[in-house]
Amino acid sequence: MSPLLELQGVSVAIAHAQLLDGISLRLDRGQILGLVGESGSGKSLTAMAAMGLLPLIGGRVTTGAIRFDGQDMVQMTEAQRRALRGRRIGFITQNPMTALDPVQRIGAQIDVVSRLHLGLSSAAARARTLELMTQLRIPEAGAVAEAWPHQLSGGMKQRIVIAMALAGEPDLIIADEPTTALDVTVQAQIIQILAALVRDRGLALLLITHDMGVVAQVCDRVAVLYAGRLAEERPVDPIFAAPAHPYTRALTLCIPRDDTARGALHGIPGAVPTALNYPSGCRFHPRCPKAVSACSATQPALVAYGEDGRVACHLPGPGAP
Ligand code: SF4
Repeated sequence: MSPLLELQGVSVAIAHAQLLDGISLRLDRGQILGLVGESGSGKSLTAMAAMGLLPLIGGRVTTGAIRFDGQDMVQMTEAQRRALRGRRIGFITQNPMTALDPVQRIGAQIDVVSRLHLGLSSAAARARTLELMTQLRIPEAGAVAEAWPHQLSGGMKQRIVIAMALAGEPDLIIADEPTTALDVTVQAQIIQILAALVRDRGLALLLITHDMGVVAQVCDRVAVLYAGRLAEERPVDPIFAAPAHPYTRALTLCIPRDDTARGALHGIPGAVPTALNYPSGCRFHPRCPKAVSACSATQPALVAYGEDGRVACHLPGPGAP
């Protein structure tokens, strides 16, 4: 089966800065792929590339191919890309207020998506809006549809943004840190609802997050980005059981657990380098507890690892430290 979304060796530049370097990913229907890494690792840029939005931020694909359902997104015209977004690719932003029009009632903002992309009448669009709101467990959907954005809580606004993303019946949802702005209990509810809807409808979800706890809960596969390169990409269970890349291991140790809940979190010392000061060899070597001299000299290739996985490290696998 051909993948719904495929990135093959994608490198992205903005002006003279090479920000993504040879990213290869695939996402099949019915699958949830978590894209993880710290701020500055290239997660959001990868999402923008997958949505064909790079030209809007002055970015361009310098090498590689991006295919959505077999169609080459790099070669298509902006009008063709725009037609895909909203209709076949839905997007959920980090901050619901940027996605909602403050001077339009909630229901009208969802209605317009299915009227525009599915050609529904006003009455049919409203019926669909109310059905979606109910599926998203929004109580008193009729009253909420008549409300203004400022009258809703943050969690409720994010559910509305999810309803908007689903209203065009997309095949792929790209969610960029969809719960970051919400409190912890609401975060868990929204992620579970989103994952259930994706499973029920056989959609594909690219979930961008820095939260490995969320990934462990709902993802099928995990892709770990570091400084614009793919560090590791594997099914979720083995990656948490035995991370192959030291950076993945460090990220998994950052998940708060019962024994670390009182503040003893495992931080990762240092910071992600910027494109202006990427280190030689493996870009993680200045922060890596396993680094040896080869690590600063030679960039590790992304190679097959374990069952159906890939890793870019000279010393992959468990082991000290
Ligand atoms: Fe660490 Fe070397 Fe592996 Fe990079 S290649 S992650 S520095 S062990």
